[in-house]
Amino acid sequence: MEIYEMTALMLAEKIRSRELTPTEAVLSVADAIKARDEKLNCYTSLDVDGALEAAKNVENAISRGENLSPLAGVPIGIKDDICELGRKATAGSKMLSDFTAPYNAIVIDKIKSAGMIPLGRLNMDEFAMGWSTETSHFGAVKNPWDLSRTAGGSSGGSAAAVAADECVIALGTDTGGSIRQPCAFCGVTGLKPTYGAVSRYGLIAFASSLDVIGPVGKTARDTAALFSIIKGADSRDMTSRDSEDITLSNSLKGVKIGVPTELFGCDINGEVRENIVASKKVFESLGAECVEVSLSLLKYAGSAYYIIACAEASSNLARYDGVRFGHRATDCDTLEEMYIKSRSEGFGAEVKKRIMLGNFVLSAGYFDDYYNRALKVKRLICDAFDDAFNKCDIILSPVTSSTAYRLGESPTKMYLDDTYTSIVNLAGLPALSLPCGFDSEGMPTGLQLIGRAFDEKSILSAGALYQSCTDFHLKKPRI
Ligand code: GLN
Repeated sequence: MEIYEMTALMLAEKIRSRELTPTEAVLSVADAIKARDEKLNCYTSLDVDGALEAAKNVENAISRGENLSPLAGVPIGIKDDICELGRKATAGSKMLSDFTAPYNAIVIDKIKSAGMIPLGRLNMDEFAMGWSTETSHFGAVKNPWDLSRTAGGSSGGSAAAVAADECVIALGTDTGGSIRQPCAFCGVTGLKPTYGAVSRYGLIAFASSLDVIGPVGKTARDTAALFSIIKGADSRDMTSRDSEDITLSNSLKGVKIGVPTELFGCDINGEVRENIVASKKVFESLGAECVEVSLSLLKYAGSAYYIIACAEASSNLARYDGVRFGHRATDCDTLEEMYIKSRSEGFGAEVKKRIMLGNFVLSAGYFDDYYNRALKVKRLICDAFDDAFNKCDIILSPVTSSTAYRLGESPTKMYLDDTYTSIVNLAGLPALSLPCGFDSEGMPTGLQLIGRAFDEKSILSAGALYQSCTDFHLKKPRI
């Protein structure tokens, strides 16, 4: 097995036992990137020299006999909206194409102290707004399983890179499904943590009440290990808090898995549905009991999500005025003209659409009809999940209604498809996306396990147990 094909835990184990060095790991992954990324476009920038220097530091720590974290020495890819001191952070936008981060996000400090090695910046939809990484200023990411399809989005770079072994593990971000959907499209495993479980300090904001940083990996165990490193309270993000340590359990005995009837609506592709239904049997064979639950508010999730997300985005993106951050237009006669031209040139079409929509739903006269009403729906969705979790411990659902979109698909279908993922962000809950099979065209399908707030442990345990008796996560695309 090549080094770049290993899981993060396997590689870290070999580094600890001195069978391999972090330098060898970095060079192996860099080779895989060189061989494949021209086709896939997962990375917006690479820093192999910086990674080799970091690898040397980890090697020194190993020879000093220091106590290393479970993922020390493992190279990692970082989504391009998470700030790393001295490296570009473009958020997939022309607006920030020349922006160099002046400080580290907390998650970067944490992975570095754990001895992990950031290797490059992963492509994404502009400001994380999208479903296919096609809104990126740096071009679409291609799906490693079929180059005529998208990798999903907005963390398309993270998911495709892990699927194609262009990185061992990655960080993504999820506001309405951006970790889980690309993981399902690319056949890898991704965790959207509970809102507040991971500090957002240093994350370029999209919709602050929904944004969360999370791991994308080859297995549930890898994502659990990375989540354990990045989670925890941080005084610079007042919405963050500590949560229990993640010790995965080795049985599903006594665990109740809720299957909401509404989540298998008629818009779901037959093969996607069949694979999820088949997974129910696997969970039952592991000792879980499947029960029916109801989430009848599902039909309102997409509308509420887009109103809230656009409202917050319009306010968050107001800071890009050409003065303090990002692109500044030239040849302007007045300050007003400079604002207008800088924003018109710096933002792409999808981002502009959302800023307009967000300003509209927040405007006097429409605020109550749209924004306030969406907040009420959000509250009702939280209550509905509370009710469901009185009857079960985990909810099993689809991630999306279909397999990966073809490049150039109409956005209308994609907007509607966010339902299964965005409802989880509205409720702030944790959810794991993991591969559960393939369709007849050989494209991966995913399933989603939703947990109670701050109970990442249950869904990660269920995911790891599922992967211990299935092999969908082990299949590799031929690129
Ligand atoms: N597809 C959703 C959107 O475009 C989700 C994006 C995300 O989670 N960042 O808003």
